[in-house]
Amino acid sequence: MHRLMTAAMPIPGHIDPVPVPRPQVATDDPRPDLLGLARPQIRDLLTEAGLDDRQAKLRAKQLWHQIYNRGARDFQDMSDIAKPQRAWFAERFRIGRPEVVTELVSTDGTRKWLLRTGDGHDFEMVFIPDADRGTLCVSSQVGCTLNCRFCHTGTMRLVRNLTAGEIVGQVMLARDSLGEWPSQPEGRMLSNIVMMGMGEPLYNFDNVRDALRIVMDGDGLGLSRRRITLSTSGVVPMMARAGEEIGVNLAVSLHAVTKEVRDEIVPLNRKYGIDELLEACAAYPGANNARRITFEYVMLKDKNDSDEDAHELVRLIRKYRLPAKVNLIPFNPWPGAAYECSSDERVRRFSEIVFEAGISAPVRRPRGRDIMAACGQLKSAAEKKSRAELDRIAAEKQAALV
Ligand code: SAH
Ligand code: SF4
Repeated sequence: MHRLMTAAMPIPGHIDPVPVPRPQVATDDPRPDLLGLARPQIRDLLTEAGLDDRQAKLRAKQLWHQIYNRGARDFQDMSDIAKPQRAWFAERFRIGRPEVVTELVSTDGTRKWLLRTGDGHDFEMVFIPDADRGTLCVSSQVGCTLNCRFCHTGTMRLVRNLTAGEIVGQVMLARDSLGEWPSQPEGRMLSNIVMMGMGEPLYNFDNVRDALRIVMDGDGLGLSRRRITLSTSGVVPMMARAGEEIGVNLAVSLHAVTKEVRDEIVPLNRKYGIDELLEACAAYPGANNARRITFEYVMLKDKNDSDEDAHELVRLIRKYRLPAKVNLIPFNPWPGAAYECSSDERVRRFSEIVFEAGISAPVRRPRGRDIMAACGQLKSAAEKKSRAELDRIAAEKQAALV
């Protein structure tokens, strides 16, 4: 908890971080994990294991369908593959899933998972059901380098990037939990994905791209790119590539309209300023009136929530002619945070000003408060608990010695 400080203190941490991912430590299981591999990679593994080209191609297609369409976790369940062949696969490969540490279901239906990588790092995933859809909030990194001051994940150091398998594995796990296999085109609970969990997806570009390509694959998880949103805090140099190589909806964590305030709350702003960011938004491939860019705006009391801020937001969106909508997010407080949430009345007024200018500005309802569904909170609660447990054990030892 190095973040117990006042707003006037200098912002800790680097402002131009280049993540240096730690290599993933191998698990006890030496078999390569097929999850997260592209079709040609699976084919290559099969050829290396001794299949001829034709067989490798055929089997890769079958495996792909079984893994991503049927949700198979065990080769033994692959009924379209002959039994001896299933055993041959099982000896050589595995189909992973992130380990579930805890799964919580809120009174409002929100589900939250604390997950663990094979090398023992915890990260989070949240599912938010609504009347006509369900949105899965997926993590891209364990921790984050960017230190946004209102964000709890920002207080954790970056441990490492998640692999493509760990990213697509989150979606697979949610489907397991919701009982939504095989993949169906219509009527599923898990209908939308937002890359808004822990981490900055554009600092883990390749893995996020590879994972989302599997999610969008017609014979894979089969989600349309229109139902996937990638949220960035404003990594300007990667935004065009995200549009070209992934092609999903873009959300931008704007949160402030002046250099002074955005420099403070989103320190990446010192590197890529508001104008540069909005220019990159205007150039985002695929953005148009039917596919608007979402600007996320967390409502912080007396920080970014004045009428002037709302008017300036409208001016900026107009200046860059952005096909935009604004998502107003009530600040979700966490212990030691330097900010408070704006009052309901202030949020309502802010929203009205933006609406009156013809820009949609709904207020996002907080969900899953009883299970700490806000970004980064479950992980730290788990850590706190284990620390509390350690304290208790230490106290007991102490008592035994007396
Ligand atoms: N790193 C990316 C995506 C993950 S954060 C990004 O910053 O866009 C997803 C969203 O949750 C961001 O808009 C972020 O600003 C917001 N957020 C983080 N902490 C929050 C908090 N305590 N209360 C409300 N929103 C928060
Ligand atoms: Fe990282 Fe996003 Fe949190 Fe900023 S808001 S610290 S970029 S996860």
